[in-house]
Amino acid sequence: MDTQLFDYTKQDASGTCSTALAWAKTPALLTPSQRNALADRARALLKQHNAVLVAHYYVDGLLQDLALETGGIVSDSLEMARFGRDHAAQTLVVAGVRFMGETAKILSPEKRVLMPDLDATCSLDLGCPADDFAAFCDAHPDRQVVVYANTSAAVKARADWMVTSSCALDIVADLHAKGQKILWAPDRHLGRYIQEQTGADMLMWNGACIVHDEFKGLELELLREQHPHAQILVHPESPKSVVDMAHVVGSTSALIKAVVEGTAQEYIVATDNGILHRMRQLAPGKTLIEAPTAGNSATCKSCAHCPWMAMNGLANLVDCLESGQPQIHVEETTRVLAQRCINRMLDFTAARKKAAAGMTPGIGAA
Ligand code: SF4
Repeated sequence: MDTQLFDYTKQDASGTCSTALAWAKTPALLTPSQRNALADRARALLKQHNAVLVAHYYVDGLLQDLALETGGIVSDSLEMARFGRDHAAQTLVVAGVRFMGETAKILSPEKRVLMPDLDATCSLDLGCPADDFAAFCDAHPDRQVVVYANTSAAVKARADWMVTSSCALDIVADLHAKGQKILWAPDRHLGRYIQEQTGADMLMWNGACIVHDEFKGLELELLREQHPHAQILVHPESPKSVVDMAHVVGSTSALIKAVVEGTAQEYIVATDNGILHRMRQLAPGKTLIEAPTAGNSATCKSCAHCPWMAMNGLANLVDCLESGQPQIHVEETTRVLAQRCINRMLDFTAARKKAAAGMTPGIGAA
């Protein structure tokens, strides 16, 4: 299989909001009374503005709880996109990182999309500038361009398909079965995992998530020896040495499902530790252990928590609802082009879901 890594030397997170700046902008800790007052104010403002809160599993548990309690959603990026598109609210407040807000705006241009802090970005997005990516695509016109959701609107505008970690495997397997060669960007670990699983011909961009890239195979092996009965749950943005030890490899939703439905008592979790909040709520009797990011080879920039996700807090949520700023804007030509690849993914996953339901006894044949 023809596999090359596109060696992009500027992939470090040194763009408009570095990790250091992100940590510096992380909201201050709140006292219980401050927390309650801000949560009350956020509830009132959401109602007043007919707004809905769309939160990712990696943001502060307070925001996750507020989203669920006020009729919003806490989910992975695929469900966030679907929910925002289908909800009747005219204002979407996205608690997550910038590409999630952009995806919401691309799918619902008529809606107002607010975010607590537009500097909340992602190392995958920062490491894949649109101009360089377009040159990479131009050099390989024979390939279907498949990009991960964690990219800018301009990168999506150049793609044939957008995927999330929930559906990437199915979509690439389908393209491979149809004889298509793939140009994949930007996460090298997820790309490698999908290539191994599908056997597809994939040419890859060399990007990484700074959170998952730090999980350590050797240290995980030592932890496994201490917890021989634990199930190991790994997000596929992690390095191969970590993925190879997993009992379950999957998206955030798939990892939560594994904890809820699993028969084991202990779980070692290799993804952003923001996910533990929802896992604890849904599986209160189970023991959850964070996979190691420290050890001999540690260069911890995140310690299993995304600095950009951490920028979302109750205070800046209230601020954005009060002021109507900052808002997400996507230039119209870019938006229309980007919408095509997102809709392809949404249509593909909806068709798969329908086909699966049709095959379920009692629901009726497809
Ligand atoms: S956890 Fe990783 S992939 Fe997710 S937003 Fe942060 S840097 Fe990006």
